[in-house]
Amino acid sequence: MSFHSLTIEEIEYYYSLLNEEITDYDCGELCKPYNKGIPYCCSVENAVPLLYKAELQYLQSKGDLWKKWIPLTKEDKKIKKQENKDQIFCECKGFQFCIREQRSISCRTFPLEPYIDIRGVFVGLTFIQAFTEKDPDTNIIKCPLTNRYKDIRQEFIDSHYSFWEKIMLRRQEEYETYLETSRKLRRVFRKTGKTFIVLLPSHLKESKIIPKYLY
Ligand code: SF4
Ligand code: SF4
Repeated sequence: MSFHSLTIEEIEYYYSLLNEEITDYDCGELCKPYNKGIPYCCSVENAVPLLYKAELQYLQSKGDLWKKWIPLTKEDKKIKKQENKDQIFCECKGFQFCIREQRSISCRTFPLEPYIDIRGVFVGLTFIQAFTEKDPDTNIIKCPLTNRYKDIRQEFIDSHYSFWEKIMLRRQEEYETYLETSRKLRRVFRKTGKTFIVLLPSHLKESKIIPKYLY
């Protein structure tokens, strides 16, 4: 691995920051009925988890829950091209075999990602845009939790903010990725009026400056 690659020790530390439950209830109950009894985000057909290579190595040392994802369709092959030298698309054995402690960073952080404001400052979390849309097969919002942002626990937001702050400092590429997704959200907002939610961590909630630079 290159000098910049994450280490297994770092992965273990990051996992320790990502243990909070997202809601006070099992949000899988919201989407399972429309997805053959499987949480929408746990079907590889809907979301392919992108793992750090060190993460896969760590998880494979713990058991056989994870393996490399093999692209089958033309669409899959396009997704596969989004990998970089430190990350690899993977799939787990399936929802019925899930082991909480062996969930990947992708599983733990879903359906939220960092939001970078117009100053370029990381200020909070927003929903991954693609999962706020309707699934064409069911005509139901892919991740129903994206319509229930008030249910997301503040402890979850605070600890995940801390995780993202650390990883974006560690890996410039992560910052660049979310700078671009945040810009895209603002572009769509200006063009179509489609709003988006930004969940602020406790220490920024009372800030009078943050709202000025949010959109
Ligand atoms: S995060 Fe969204 S898609 Fe995943 S289980 Fe919860 S409601 Fe379903
Ligand atoms: S490891 Fe668990 S949470 Fe992650 S995709 Fe598999 S079933 Fe879902």
